Amino acid sequence: MTLRLFNTLSGQMDELVPSDGKAFRMYACGPTVYDYGHIGNFRTFLQVDVLRRALKLTGTKVRHVMNITDVDDKIIRNATAAGVPIGQYTARFEKAFFEDLDSLRVERPEQIARATEHIQKMVELVQKLAAVGAAYQTEDGSWYFRLASFPQYGKLSKKDLSGMEDGARVDVDEYEKDSARDFALWKAAKPGETSWDTAIGRGRPGWHIECSAMAMEYLGESFDLHAGGEDLMFPHHENEIAQSESVTHKPFARHWMHVRFLLVDGRKMSKSEGNFYTLRDLLLKGYKASAIRLALISVPYRHQLNFTFDGLIEATNAIDRLRTFHQRLTQGDFAAGENPALQAAAKKAQAEYLAALANDLNTAEARAPIFDLIRTANTAMDQGQLLAGDRDAMLAVLASFDAVFDVIEDRDAEPTRRALEYAEQAGRQADVAPELLARQGLTDEAIDALVAERTTAKKQRNFARADQIRNELAEKGIVIEDSKDGVRWKRK
Ligand code: AMP
Ligand code: ZN
Repeated sequence: MTLRLFNTLSGQMDELVPSDGKAFRMYACGPTVYDYGHIGNFRTFLQVDVLRRALKLTGTKVRHVMNITDVDDKIIRNATAAGVPIGQYTARFEKAFFEDLDSLRVERPEQIARATEHIQKMVELVQKLAAVGAAYQTEDGSWYFRLASFPQYGKLSKKDLSGMEDGARVDVDEYEKDSARDFALWKAAKPGETSWDTAIGRGRPGWHIECSAMAMEYLGESFDLHAGGEDLMFPHHENEIAQSESVTHKPFARHWMHVRFLLVDGRKMSKSEGNFYTLRDLLLKGYKASAIRLALISVPYRHQLNFTFDGLIEATNAIDRLRTFHQRLTQGDFAAGENPALQAAAKKAQAEYLAALANDLNTAEARAPIFDLIRTANTAMDQGQLLAGDRDAMLAVLASFDAVFDVIEDRDAEPTRRALEYAEQAGRQADVAPELLARQGLTDEAIDALVAERTTAKKQRNFARADQIRNELAEKGIVIEDSKDGVRWKRK
């Protein structure tokens, strides 16, 4: 099965196949490590994770490169304000970023590339651009890209740049949205700023040149796919194309994937609106990392995701259903044999799941047949009609679902523990939800012991004690479920 994905460049759905016949080479713009990542950032990284996992699930080998922007205007400004070298400033946020990716179970790209470790490659690219007349140096020693030298500029974002003023320049990394200008490739050193002494002068790279240089370094002059949030389409990606293709005269990336921005409660997320959330903020409110992952990926990447707390609760409940079903399958006793109706249902769900992913990574449509199957199989189990062969078929479907969604195995304790550690270090204890603290106070062993005590109490017909234990646990977010296969408990 071959995945098809909307390509911003071609304006149509294109098939994703490795052009070298070996591995699918993809580049995704990474974070600027000047602060903790917010859920909008992670929505984009999660959707790229969905892409790479879906490629692997359908048998395609992936070579995925992601940059870390560890030098830019904001970083320099913040590090200066904090009175520390930029490396020291960014190290903390880079570490936090990778911890957050782990919490959300975002797979690591095959190659991580830090801007500050590839300065020489960027300098060489500027030199090549100068050699073909696409770059010029200004009096202060900075280098700019000459937009007029690249007539295809605007082909990705389909912007009409006819009113563009030749020679007008912009030298900041934060752009006015609609102004196409000659942009900085290399910024001459300003007193007190971090800089590198190089063949094109003392200074530091512009933001765009880093992605061109590092993408070509690891993936070659022409590769399969480039991804990022929709805000990067213009000017960042347009600039990457101009810088790269001016030198190589080859298509830089064949396919461009842009993830639509997330809204929170129907509005643009912003600190001043009070609707701005980092991953850590949500973990401290007591939400599970798996629920945050599911909520952020369940709306397909080209649709606007409106993030709400109701949505997080829906995701939490969906994960409960998945985990409970998985537990029933693995712990139950099933007679040998196969039920043809269930075998057919499993096959159908699997086919629909894959077809939805293959159709522009439609995660919402991919989820639906899995939950339908769970409903059918649960009913069959209740009636004793699910047999051992059916259990195996169901587990295979769940495994294929989890190869992309990755929420069934409960690994939620570690992200929460890390978030609590962070709260302590950052002096944010006041932001920890009281239920979360209560829940954390109880180890699995302590809960097992209380559940066992309750079972004994019930056997001895001491219902008052049994109810008391149930209520005590409920207050701490532990739910007990009595079923015919025994007693189960879970953290809410
Ligand atoms: P940054 O660290 O700001 O360079 O952003 C890292 C990634 O997150 C980029 O691909 C951005 O396009 C993406 N991004 C930033 N804000 C949002 C948002 N609200 N929704 C989705 N993606 C976002
Ligand atoms: Zn980039």
